[in-house]
Amino acid sequence: MSLPNCTHCQHPPERREKAGALLLICPVCNNRGEASTNHDWAVASWSQVNRTDLPYCCEEKPVRFKQREQQWFGGCTGCDNRVGGFMSLQGAVAGWARRLR
Ligand SMILES: [Zn+2]
Ligand SMILES: [Zn+2]
Repeated sequence: MSLPNCTHCQHPPERREKAGALLLICPVCNNRGEASTNHDWAVASWSQVNRTDLPYCCEEKPVRFKQREQQWFGGCTGCDNRVGGFMSLQGAVAGWARRLR
């Protein structure tokens, strides 16, 4: 399966493993998926944070998803429009889609 490049800086992700958990992270801007011992999900979460099918808030500014203290947030990189904190990345993706509907 081919992985998307970072949607913010077009750099391919690095795979980092720690204590059995896999994390995919952009070495340039620190855009990251979710670290997980379920490696399939770790890879899938990278695709989620780099989705290209979500609407943009500001023109040409992709949403950036962040995890902080077990909660997920989504925010526009062009303004301070953001949603959070969701218990899952999927929740943040859905919340962002709702916000821009
Ligand atoms: Zn990046
Ligand atoms: Zn915006």
